[in-house]
Amino acid sequence: MTEKSFSPTDDENDTLLFEKLQEHVLAHYPNPERKGCPDPAVLKSLIDDPGNITLDALNDLHIFKCAECTRLLMELRQKKKQSGTSE
Ligand SMILES: [Zn+2]
Repeated sequence: MTEKSFSPTDDENDTLLFEKLQEHVLAHYPNPERKGCPDPAVLKSLIDDPGNITLDALNDLHIFKCAECTRLLMELRQKKKQSGTSE
């Protein structure tokens, strides 16, 4: 794999970076018309089972440039955190 990707090495940084990124997206990429948004079911799968989601299904890096999708992802992640504390 020569592709450069978003791959920080430790989890805490990952989360912090992700939160910063989300804030940035929310502030700078409003998308009231939901142009190019993937199906909400796809976003849900991204939270539940990220290994099964392709970039294609996500419309490439759309979620990093769409406040609507980012907001939905945050909600989904929150819900998952609240419901799944089995570990
Ligand atoms: Zn979107």
